[in-house]
Amino acid sequence: MFKKCILFVFSISLLLGSIFPMTAGGSIEDLKQKQQEIQNKIKEYRQQADALKSQKENVQAEIDQLDIEIDALNLEIEGYDLQKQELTLQIAEKEQEIVKLNEEIDLNNEALEDRLRIMYKNGTSGYLEVILNADDLMDALTRLDMIQLIVQSDVDLLKSIEAQKKQVEELQLSLENQRAEVITVQNSVIAKKQEVAVAYSEKEQRMAALEKDINKIQQLEAAEEAQSAKIEKDILAAQRAVEYAGGEMAWPVPGNYRITSYFGGRPDPITGVWSTHRGIDIGASYGSAIVAANDGVVIFTGSHWSYGNYIIIDHGGGISTLYAHNTSLLVRNGDEVSRGEQIATAGSTGYSTGPHCHFEVRINGTITDPLKYVK
Ligand SMILES: [Zn+2]
Repeated sequence: MFKKCILFVFSISLLLGSIFPMTAGGSIEDLKQKQQEIQNKIKEYRQQADALKSQKENVQAEIDQLDIEIDALNLEIEGYDLQKQELTLQIAEKEQEIVKLNEEIDLNNEALEDRLRIMYKNGTSGYLEVILNADDLMDALTRLDMIQLIVQSDVDLLKSIEAQKKQVEELQLSLENQRAEVITVQNSVIAKKQEVAVAYSEKEQRMAALEKDINKIQQLEAAEEAQSAKIEKDILAAQRAVEYAGGEMAWPVPGNYRITSYFGGRPDPITGVWSTHRGIDIGASYGSAIVAANDGVVIFTGSHWSYGNYIIIDHGGGISTLYAHNTSLLVRNGDEVSRGEQIATAGSTGYSTGPHCHFEVRINGTITDPLKYVK
């Protein structure tokens, strides 16, 4: 008993690029070759674009981070501005206080000077005269007390004025120091902000460059895609240029008529995953003859991980047939073959669990149920 064919997965790119059914001829081979090269280029461009996109994401994250930093620094600068304003107000207040105190000091000085002037005019005996002019001893003592009081109060006044003056000056100095400190810190924050802004602008430039590179690569990819589409069209046009060989197709494995797997949806015999079976599987022992289903030209012979050793024959009119899992191939690319002519020996190469022939019929490159063509 033959096991089912497990060939069912086949990439579109390979389908279009490598084994697209077509008429024979060197130019078709060239087109196929070109198509493969283009597919490789497209793949390469996509990888490049992906790498750049991931770089772009990183740069964007960095830009976002710098944005946050700039916002924080702006807030800090605002804070220092407010502090500076407050200190300026405090200094102005203290300055007013100093002016007021100075006025008081001046007034007191005048009063003191007046007394000193009188004393000077009267010689050093100024105070003494006042005492001597007393009516009696009691009056003299009173006058002496008063003079002592006046002198003492003058001295106290002077002392307190000096102390106040000093205090105001110290206060003003400390406020100014504080203000200078605020300005220093503020300037350093501004400098840091500028640094961050420069880094930000560099990142933005890098971002713009990356976007430009990505666009460029995407344009290149689009150009390759367009080229690929054109070649595909050329292949189809070349294929349609030849009319179908005509007549009914021959059974590809003479003497072996057992179909072990039909065309269409089926579970993968190994993984169980539902997928499309691209052809029919015909049970055949090792070495059985595989024959051409109709007159045509061999447009592909080769090996594939899934198909194993396989052959594609173009019959014209956009119709081609494929024979897979063979042990050996008896024809080469470009060979003309006749209906019923042996082209291979059956086997189990590629993705297969036992000897059989996987047979496909394609109409303009699209797989179709072979049982519509072979009986
Ligand atoms: Zn199969």
